[in-house]
Amino acid sequence: MMQNMKQAFQMFVKTKNNAHNQNNTTGGLESLGTKDKSQAIQLLKARNPMHRIEKRMGREFCNPPAIRPYRWLLLFATILMATCAQALGNNPSKIDAPQLVPLPRSLHQRSGRVVLGNRIIPESPELLPLGAVIAGEVEQLTGRRLAVERRWARTGDIVLRIDPSLKGESYRIEVSRTARVIGGNYAAVAEGTASLLQALTLDGGNPGWPRLKIDDAPGSGYRGLMVDAARSWHSPAMLKQLVELCRWYKVRHLQIHFTDDGAHTFPSAAYPQLNANRRHYTTGELRQLESFAVERGVVILPELDVPGHASVLVQQMPEIFANHPQSGNVICPGREETYQALNRLIGEMTDIFHTTPYFHVGADEVNLEPWKSCTNCQAYMAAHQLENVEELYRHFIVRMDQLVRDYGKKTIVWEGFHKEGRTQIPRDVTVMVFESSYNIAPDVLELGYPVINASWQPLYVVNDRNWSPEQIYGWNKYRWESCWPNSKAYQHPITVAPTALMLGAQMCTWEQSEQRELPSLRARLPAMSERLWNPETPHGYPDFAARLKWTDAGLKKLLQEPLPSTPPRDSKNHPTAADAPTLDECCPKQSVPAAE
Ligand SMILES: [Zn+2]
Repeated sequence: MMQNMKQAFQMFVKTKNNAHNQNNTTGGLESLGTKDKSQAIQLLKARNPMHRIEKRMGREFCNPPAIRPYRWLLLFATILMATCAQALGNNPSKIDAPQLVPLPRSLHQRSGRVVLGNRIIPESPELLPLGAVIAGEVEQLTGRRLAVERRWARTGDIVLRIDPSLKGESYRIEVSRTARVIGGNYAAVAEGTASLLQALTLDGGNPGWPRLKIDDAPGSGYRGLMVDAARSWHSPAMLKQLVELCRWYKVRHLQIHFTDDGAHTFPSAAYPQLNANRRHYTTGELRQLESFAVERGVVILPELDVPGHASVLVQQMPEIFANHPQSGNVICPGREETYQALNRLIGEMTDIFHTTPYFHVGADEVNLEPWKSCTNCQAYMAAHQLENVEELYRHFIVRMDQLVRDYGKKTIVWEGFHKEGRTQIPRDVTVMVFESSYNIAPDVLELGYPVINASWQPLYVVNDRNWSPEQIYGWNKYRWESCWPNSKAYQHPITVAPTALMLGAQMCTWEQSEQRELPSLRARLPAMSERLWNPETPHGYPDFAARLKWTDAGLKKLLQEPLPSTPPRDSKNHPTAADAPTLDECCPKQSVPAAE
């Protein structure tokens, strides 16, 4: 008997310390006989801070005349306490640590558990669209549909708020009575909710969270994914799935490579001939895509690749874009009409993708030879005192930057212009350094340009030519490697010292069919994201891989589709040999399944 009483007492103390309630206490007494129970209750009452409340309630229940006026109030209080008891759960030892990718900067888990309530409360009205997104995601993850309401929060509700005192993408999560996500802006709150949903677990069939506090902010502002929607058709539905992938792993930017030698998939009202006989998106589809991304805190960054990789412009609009006597895939920068047409194309793209702060103008892998014999180019160079085609190329970037600025955007270019040159390219043009052959990151940074690391190795994902998630996890944003002998990073990696000009990094998938994107990205993209978000993660790849298993299972539920564990081998949408980049010539095949 005394042993049972001792157990009951120990159970009470444990549950009390865990902010639990009398249900646990009485639960521990259920196995006792009536006499033992009475003695145990006396012992508990002597040490129980809740005793006074229980005692008062007991007296009132034992005294019908006194209780009668308060009967309904007491009944309500009893139901409330029982509800709280259910919400807080009973056994904190069952609650695992949240499995989050990327790992937050600061996470403190407390004892106890909060069961998911019935509502999402966007305290800031501008977060209503995010509330609707989360309602859909919670339903995907748990099967439960939450209401989105702007009312007082109840226990277990998800509460969203913008607090401008939190800077940039900083966010905070507090799961105590409610699950509260506070961020410095819409994107920060959205990123916080990705962590909150990753932390959601089922305990006995009830979705909920361990009580916890997260303080978090990204280590890099630019975290990107590029998809090649020119060489291989990607349905709007697939682009939306890539937005969801980015959202789940806090990858802020999705660059869409809309144009290349194979196709011009961006719809042009001004020049519909660019879309003639080729599959392309509709304006409505892309407006929907933009809204879909904005609601999720993801930026879609369009790319118009010029002056090279532009066969469609040359072939469909030769009167404006062709060099004379020959063009190849390079447009002519020697006529004003060229810039007027490019202005209209940029205007159409920024009209749909109006929230992006950036616009990508390509400028990569340009064959300058056609310009040397083009009469228009030669006349233009003479008029602008440009002594050679290298200067004409730099001048072209300057003019593109002026057009982009007029739409309120900042220009991004691929690595292409050389360190040397007279024509000054404005220092706010951001350079994506990818192959370290035209230019290398230390030189670009020394010249004062912001840089985004898009190193082939290990950030390119090109069908079977890719690097394993573990290799990606071993990389950092200050490092470039290459397997291509012509790259200056071929034998020895190029590294740079930390600087604010290093904005972040981008993973690029080239040439892939849409069926390959998710299988090849679902482990690689989060590996890059964690290295950018939280570069000081102390636990290494095995810890990341263990967490990834959990978040990948959540991703499968969110996307509503079974994800194959290995990429399919079909090549129906594979580009022709003419489209193949030089990457195909150099890198060893390293087909590593992305997940599983
Ligand atoms: Zn020309």
